Amino acid sequence: MSSVQICAYGSPALRKKVVRVEQFDKRLQEQVDRMLQVMYIAKGIGLAAPQMEEMQQVIVIDLQMEPNSEMVALDRKIIPLQLVQPLVLVNPSFDPVNDILILGEEGCLSIPDVHGHVNRYLKIFVKYQDVEGTPHELTCERLLARCIQHEVDHLNGILFVDRISKTERKENAATLKALKARGGIVKYENPSFTA
Ligand SMILES: [Zn+2]
Repeated sequence: MSSVQICAYGSPALRKKVVRVEQFDKRLQEQVDRMLQVMYIAKGIGLAAPQMEEMQQVIVIDLQMEPNSEMVALDRKIIPLQLVQPLVLVNPSFDPVNDILILGEEGCLSIPDVHGHVNRYLKIFVKYQDVEGTPHELTCERLLARCIQHEVDHLNGILFVDRISKTERKENAATLKALKARGGIVKYENPSFTA
């Protein structure tokens, strides 16, 4: 795959609330595989199905971090973050573990060249199903928690630019307007593709 296209700011697909996955079949596995491939080519750390016009509750995440000591709790077992990646979340929902919010910078594959600061819960408790339909519980914090909150927003038609300050919106207004005018598609090239 030399290049991939995903929905950009202005695309109606990014503004719809998507439906729960009911069928855990081969088609879902293929969709997840495509999403992972697109995320890696676009060099993102997360992707939600509506960004590919798949209107279902599916998220893929790979923070692609250097090995570090960060831990998560998966099904009540404490394990290294590295071991849960790539993370595929089907029908995810989350609750904050406490009310601590943290302001951090975000971007989005669907909104290239725009960055802004968003308040997210520091630590969350996530319920989801894997690609086979098995339910799981995940407690995580910091970047992974932020990424999951950003991607779950996508499943509800919400974009991070809806949550940035008025000042940052003004600063990015021209870029957002230009993106909208481009027709709702953004293309990413795979630089390592040589065929
Ligand atoms: Zn995004």
